[in-house]
Amino acid sequence: MNVLVVGGAGYIGSHCVRQLVAAGHRPVVLDNLVFGHRGAVAPSIPFHEGDLGDPAIVGPILVEEKIDLVMHFAAFAYVGESVTDPLKYYFNNVVETLRLLETMLSEGVTKFVFSSTCATFGVPAKMPITEDLPQLPINPYGQTKLDIENALKALAYAHGLSFAAFRYFNAAGAAEDGSIGEAHNPETHLIPLAIDAATGRRPALKVFGGDYPTPDGTCLRDYVHVDDLSRAHIAVFDRLDEPGTSLFYNLGTGTPTSVLEVIAAVEKVSGLKVPYTMTDRRAGDPPALYADSTKAKTELGWEVKYPSIEGITQTAWAWHKAHPEGF
Ligand code: UDP
Repeated sequence: MNVLVVGGAGYIGSHCVRQLVAAGHRPVVLDNLVFGHRGAVAPSIPFHEGDLGDPAIVGPILVEEKIDLVMHFAAFAYVGESVTDPLKYYFNNVVETLRLLETMLSEGVTKFVFSSTCATFGVPAKMPITEDLPQLPINPYGQTKLDIENALKALAYAHGLSFAAFRYFNAAGAAEDGSIGEAHNPETHLIPLAIDAATGRRPALKVFGGDYPTPDGTCLRDYVHVDDLSRAHIAVFDRLDEPGTSLFYNLGTGTPTSVLEVIAAVEKVSGLKVPYTMTDRRAGDPPALYADSTKAKTELGWEVKYPSIEGITQTAWAWHKAHPEGF
């Protein structure tokens, strides 16, 4: 299939582009390079620089590249910033996405795969998180993703859009061959920060809270390899043929891993010490978040290739070691 990957120069999008090629599809990238990296996309992949909300850019791409399906990864994703600057999040994550969908429908492109997030669940009453739990986001980032999930349902009903929305847990790791990986600016994620603390590129890691009601007192998260996430996006294609299909999947390994366990994994794969200090809790961090991905396994045959934090961290270490400055 000809697949437009919106945000294809970003972290998850660029890994998905590579998996699309491996699966025999033809990806075309649209990215405005605000957060994406041109170097994350191979020169052989058709690349368009521009905004997803601009019909004058997106419309001709859909037609000229004969796009069958759109995957959308281009969102702002800093939870704290979404609290202090909500308009930025509503404009980019909601308004621009609605414009993209409008352009798709007007050009007759009706298959869509959407990057959603476990942040749509807020602080769930029960763990692990199944798809049917109530979605009560506690920050604008999670709310904007939920707003699009709801818009997609309405568009499926009204216009026959077929879509899958994947709620990611903690995307982590890097391409197996070390060619691309995680390079956010600013970086806020645990694994890259722990690696940089170990190599001395950044100061000691701050562990946000050691007094949570968890076995070692630090937060539990579900780290899932970025290539495993990408493969789920492609496995769903076959289920989008029927107009009006609405699909939701939670994607994680199902294994809760604490901040201290992540630090131990980084130390093991790197052979270096991770200097850290225990600090106050970060506002808005739930104690534990991990997925029940039974639905993705059963319906899509999704199997994670990286079930352990060590395996995931090993790929992240290989990338950061070879590319300490990112792209
Ligand atoms: N974390 C931490 N120090 C950091 C960054 C993150 O202790 O410098 C913790 C954070 O509190 C959370 C976990 O690591 O429990 C994962 O955080 P991250 O920002 O990577 O992802 P999130 O779970 O917020 O999506």
